[in-house]
This record gives sequence, C-alpha cells and structure tokens, in this order.
Amino acid sequence: MYKAIVINKTEAEGYTAHQMDLDDGDLPEGDVTVKVAYSTLNYKDGLAITGKGPVVRKFPMVPGIDLAGTVMSSTHADFKVGDAVLLNGWGVGEGHPGGLAQKARLKGDWLVPLPVAFKPEQAMAIGTAGYTAMLCVMALERQGVTPDKGEILVTGAAGGVGSVAVAILAKLGYTVVASTGRPSEGEYLKTLGAAEIVDRAQFSEPGRPLGKERWAGAVDTVGSHTLANVCATTKYRGVVTCCGLAQGMDFPATVAPFILRGVTLVGIDSVMAPKADRLAAWSRLATDLDVSKLELITHQIGLSEAIDTADELMAGKIRGRVVVDVNR
Ligand code: NAP
Repeated sequence: MYKAIVINKTEAEGYTAHQMDLDDGDLPEGDVTVKVAYSTLNYKDGLAITGKGPVVRKFPMVPGIDLAGTVMSSTHADFKVGDAVLLNGWGVGEGHPGGLAQKARLKGDWLVPLPVAFKPEQAMAIGTAGYTAMLCVMALERQGVTPDKGEILVTGAAGGVGSVAVAILAKLGYTVVASTGRPSEGEYLKTLGAAEIVDRAQFSEPGRPLGKERWAGAVDTVGSHTLANVCATTKYRGVVTCCGLAQGMDFPATVAPFILRGVTLVGIDSVMAPKADRLAAWSRLATDLDVSKLELITHQIGLSEAIDTADELMAGKIRGRVVVDVNR
C-alpha cells in the first residue's frame, strides 16, 4: 500500500481530489519504480488539483509533475536499485501518474540522476519551476544577453519560477528588476538579489505598441497584457523569454517591438525539453544557484496538506516554492 493524491472526474461527484491508499496493482507501466521522497506544488499542479485548468488528460490521475526519490526496481540500463533520481515533466502528473504519491512507476528515459550538489528536498525546492527559470536564463545567454547589456525584468517575481530566476540572475551578476503584485514581498525579493521592485500593475492593462526602452532581457511568467507590455518596453535587440500564463494565455501585442526594435521573443518549454537540455540545466543549477537561498524561497508541507495548499497557490498567496514531503 502507498499513499497518493488521486484526482477523479465522475458524473456523480464531478471533479474531485482526495488522498487515498493505493496498492502496487495501481501503478502504471514503466521500467523504473521509484520510492518517492519529495514532490512539489507547481502552478500546473495547482491547476490539476483544483481543476482550474485542463491539465489532467486521464482519470483517475495522481498529480505531481516533479518527484525526487530512490530507485526501488529497474529494468532500465541506466538505473539500478538505490540510485537517487529526479523527474520533471514529460506529461507525468497529467497523463501518467505523478509524484504526489509515495511510489511512482516511470520510464527510465524520463529520469535524471539527482545532482550530487542537491539533497532530494533541495531538488524539489527547485523543481520544474526552478529548472524552467534556469532554461530561461540559458536562453537569455544564448541570445547574447550579458550582465553589461542592462536590466533584466522578472515578472511574477514572488512566485516559484520568478523567485528562482531572480536568485540565479543576481548570482550571475545581472541587474534584476522584480515585478510583483505583492509589495509586502519586496524585502524577500531584495534578499534574493533584486536591485529594484516594480508594481506589476504597470504591465497588466492594455498598453501602447511601443513604450520607453528599458529591459535588456526579461523572464516573463505571466503572459497576456504583461508579456505584450514587456515586449513593448524592451530595448533595441533585447530578448524576452516567455514561459508562463499566470495572467492569461492570450498575447494581445503588436509586431512593433519585433520589426522596429529587433526584439527576440523566446518560447520556453520544460515539459518535453530533450534530456541533454535538462542535464545542462541541472548542472548549471548546481553551480549558479545559491542553495542557501532555497531555504528562503521554500516551505515544506506534508502530502495531506497538498490539496488545501493548491487552492492557496491558485489564489496567488504562496511565496516561492512548496516542497511536499510525501511520507508525512
Ligand atoms: P506561481 O508560483 O503560482 O507564481 C505565479 C506568479 O505570477 C504569482 O506568484 C504572482 O506573482 C504572478 N501572478 C499571479 N496571477 C497574476 C495575474 N493575474 N497577473 C499578473 N501576475 C500574476 O507559479 P510558477 O510555478 O512560478 O509558474 C509561473 C508560470 O509559469 C505559470 O503560468 C506556469 O504554468 C508557468 N510554467 C511554465 C513552464 C514551462 O515549461 N513553460 C514551467 C513552469 C511553469 P507576484 O505575486 O509576484 O505578482
């Protein structure tokens, strides 16, 4: 028997999420079975658990797009019993039972060895949110955005992706401007390394096709009018990485920033990113993220608290990252 959060959708009860006891017969196909130590709550897990977004593609489903734990059994050539592993994405927790459980059976090809720099709970403090933040920073670098080019804007800064992005960029020497709707988190963001805090309201409403040039680069976790306004205020040949939709999935923009200022918009997807990119991102996280900042960014909950905490996450009340200890 093992404990898991189970999401279901039935005619009688509608969309539900409960903690339940499952047995090994409930595990899906896969060549590696993992004893899960920690999982996390990302925005997508919040959407899945609350049913606020069409994340879950098969019912019943165990949510949890991230996990870290130890291999219990394996027929995959790269993994043996006792190996410490982590997983991000690949549709796990959406179409394949995920990490908010004490056991998971997965494709070995999806797994990444736990970097020696991190304990399992630290890897989950980073989670998909932090690994996505690293993918954004690597994309800025690939496009030639170096610290001397100017300020980098991070939107949704007090959220999971935003907090880790601020910490990484600051450690790399960038001047980070953090946009948040929570002025009370200003001190927190400054401790992570933000040079300035701006009110997210300045980006949230419909704006002009072009505004005063300010950002050399941006990590946008918010989408919608915010992304449009960020592009419109990005400097000549600046770079905007787009990874989220916390404000909305729409993109009500004009082509002006792209054709008149040569702005580059880079899409970031963590879910199906190839293994080589994942290994590169995790290896960069091991060197470019100050692990002491993780404690400030993260708070830990037990599996039984995951459902209530998902509601808080969707209400924008959670700061930084949530780690789930699935064994308490
Ligand atoms: P999160 O912890 O919930 O953070 C989202 C943040 O967005 C909030 O903390 C808030 O920041 C801001 N926000 C919320 N509602 C807003 C609104 N209506 N208008 C403007 N800002 C708003 O979520 P997360 O895990 O960091 O994920 C952030 C986004 O990235 C989500 O949309 C998620 O789906 C996406 N994501 C994408 C990928 C990918 O592969 N592309 C991977 C991970 C995450 P403030 O309180 O600071 O304003």
